[in-house]
Amino acid sequence: MSGVHEECGVVGIYAPQGEDIVRFLYYGLLSLQHRGQEACGIAVTDTGRDELDVNCIKDLGLVSEVFSKETLAALNGNLGIGHVRYSTTGESVRENTQPLVLNYCKGKLSLAHNGNIVNTDELREELIRTGAIFHTTMDSELIAFHIAKNRVHSKSVEEAVYKTAKKLKGAYGLVIMSPKKLIAVRDPFGIRPLCLGRRGKTYIVASESCALNSMGAEFIRDIEPGEIVTITEEGITSNYKLKQETKAHCVFEYIYFARLDSVIDGIKVYDARIKAGELLYKRHPVDADIVTGVPESGIAAAKGFAKASGIPFDLAFHKNSYIGRTFIKPSQSERSIGVQMKLSVLEEVVKDKRVVLVDDSIVRGTTMENLVKMLKKAGAKEVHIRISSPPFMYPCYYGVDVPSNKELIATRKSAEKINETIGGDTLEYLSVEDLQETAKGLMICTACFTGEYKAGQKSNDNEG
Ligand code: AMP
Repeated sequence: MSGVHEECGVVGIYAPQGEDIVRFLYYGLLSLQHRGQEACGIAVTDTGRDELDVNCIKDLGLVSEVFSKETLAALNGNLGIGHVRYSTTGESVRENTQPLVLNYCKGKLSLAHNGNIVNTDELREELIRTGAIFHTTMDSELIAFHIAKNRVHSKSVEEAVYKTAKKLKGAYGLVIMSPKKLIAVRDPFGIRPLCLGRRGKTYIVASESCALNSMGAEFIRDIEPGEIVTITEEGITSNYKLKQETKAHCVFEYIYFARLDSVIDGIKVYDARIKAGELLYKRHPVDADIVTGVPESGIAAAKGFAKASGIPFDLAFHKNSYIGRTFIKPSQSERSIGVQMKLSVLEEVVKDKRVVLVDDSIVRGTTMENLVKMLKKAGAKEVHIRISSPPFMYPCYYGVDVPSNKELIATRKSAEKINETIGGDTLEYLSVEDLQETAKGLMICTACFTGEYKAGQKSNDNEG
């Protein structure tokens, strides 16, 4: 795959009464940390001051590493946005950290983006054509520059955002801060999540509802696909809407990516995962002594499987939570060591048992291969693998990081061959149809399983 593929989380807060919101931005980012562990940042302004300025602190690292008590104390304001970012190209680039802050005709414009734009070439060419000397390939920067350019001929910043959003193809959940406004935009397919909340008179926008809970805020509603929400001193307005008949909510949010306690587009992530586990048992039953899940990603689906089958759920692994996600390790041998460092088997739970092992997905196959070996070494008699999503076969162009096609094991091998490689007794996946059932009536994007990219495909990506 070419380009940097990102997974991110965004948050935006506006307290028109003037309350300092920095600590709430921090809490929000902490609770969105699962969406990106590579870098993070906060940009904040005080709308009460005559001379408006934006203070921005951003760096590589976890939220708790980048923001100490001292750095947080140096920031204050009543309007701000924040971002957590994760990319897997291997290069951690400080310049790519967000929020972006740039000067435009009305002062400073700040922006944070979750998702991935597929028509970056077009967007860049347009900027070059109109006279801007422009070399960036970063989609978020291209969006910010288009808004700044459009602002000159627009009556408001939200109109400039609307004109820009009409040109964007792909996935985006954006939070934008102009000197006195907070604007949130969700792509017309509704690929990435974005919701709205309130804490007293303070308004909050966040990638996931779990961020609202962490601030003691109440959930108001999801931002609708294609909706542009503007929050000012006067409150919330929603005057611009991008049209799109088809929706394509990312189903991987429910399978893996979102936090278990979030509710996205009316569906509880926990319920979707339990349902996936129940359906897995219904379609692929097996006789076994215990059901277990890969921590944390497979636990809820394993519970669903146990509930439907009546086979007791047990914890077969201890997880060392202080080690980052193994997925990002650059070499295969390091990835295997990563799995072993992160998870260890509880021998007394699995010895002489027939085990059902549930996880949300198989990407390269590293996790499963290692876990099956560990279970068998600890004396498990049989290991039956059940995956609560279909075979992962195609790259995501919309902001969920996946390795290139060549590394996706299901692109190269049938389920039978994968099972041989990872050493299971049986291996079964959930079907795309059943996945749809977990997301109830929602129109979902299943491109990573089907190759049907409803919101467009990256034109310069020919590894697909
Ligand atoms: P692998 O070991 O390469 O087969 O990866 C499978 C594991 O990675 C599973 O336990 C998943 O929960 C997790 N996973 C799946 N997709 C992603 C992703 N986009 N980013 C990080 N981890 C992932």
